[in-house]
Amino acid sequence: MRVKRAKAYRKLIHQYQVTFNFREPYQVLLDSQILQDAARFKMDLVGLLERTLQGKVKPMITQCDMRHLYNAEPKDQALILKAKEYERRRCNHHELEDPLSTLECLSSVVDPKNSLTNKNRYVVASQDPKVRAHMRAIPGVPLIYINKSVVILEPMAASTHNHREQGEKAKFKAGLKGRRGVNPGQKRKRDEAEEDSTQEQHGSSIMERSTGDDGPQKKKRTRGPKGPNPLSVKKPKKRVHPPVEPHSNVPVKPKKAEPEARRQQGVEPETPIQEGEESAKRKRQRKHKPKSDSGASSQMKAEVESNTP
Ligand SMILES: [Zn+2]
Repeated sequence: MRVKRAKAYRKLIHQYQVTFNFREPYQVLLDSQILQDAARFKMDLVGLLERTLQGKVKPMITQCDMRHLYNAEPKDQALILKAKEYERRRCNHHELEDPLSTLECLSSVVDPKNSLTNKNRYVVASQDPKVRAHMRAIPGVPLIYINKSVVILEPMAASTHNHREQGEKAKFKAGLKGRRGVNPGQKRKRDEAEEDSTQEQHGSSIMERSTGDDGPQKKKRTRGPKGPNPLSVKKPKKRVHPPVEPHSNVPVKPKKAEPEARRQQGVEPETPIQEGEESAKRKRQRKHKPKSDSGASSQMKAEVESNTP
């Protein structure tokens, strides 16, 4: 039973953590009655609360419930002293002549705006069934009470459960939408954003290019379609340009004469160069070989000479 309950509580607490962002230390609002009952059963209430909630606990008591302890007919001074160690939750009802009932006080503390939200993520530990019933209407209020000296964490209230289910349904729907509609929209948005960014990038790049070298891009673009032709055209342009570029007529003529002569008589200069290279290679080869031979022979001779004497 204990193990089962611990498992169930762990699951419950996890759900509170996930859905309502509960975190340690859990703020537990203790009413005067549960303190009295725990004292009657000689229970270590805080220790039991920590075991029940499976985490650290910050016990709290409202000013009104503190007054209830003071007003109790058999005044339990020890219990008052113990309760004084807990954090006092200032409900600001202390100016009233009489303390509010636990129901009224805790209701105002947990959900001051009656907006059905447990904003401060209180755990309510109360022996008053009316208090717990009221709190069950507020989503996300873990409820604790003592039953026969056992600390009980109530199963999730319907409101909490519904809230949680609605949240999960919403998530699920969002997920479905995300798969069907939302994601494409997001993608579209992203795409648009990307397009925008790319456009911006292009724009920026264009700007950069335009600022940097506007001409070449336009020329490139104009050249783009004509691409293959200009490549073939370029060479004649280059051929044309070098003769055109030199402004003085004097150097142009010899240049023209030289390339033209090379082109026209191209065979003549090329062949002699090749012949010269070949001859040089041959000479080199011939030179190398005889050199090596001669070197070897000279070495041999030297060796022989050195050996002979
Ligand atoms: Zn109060």
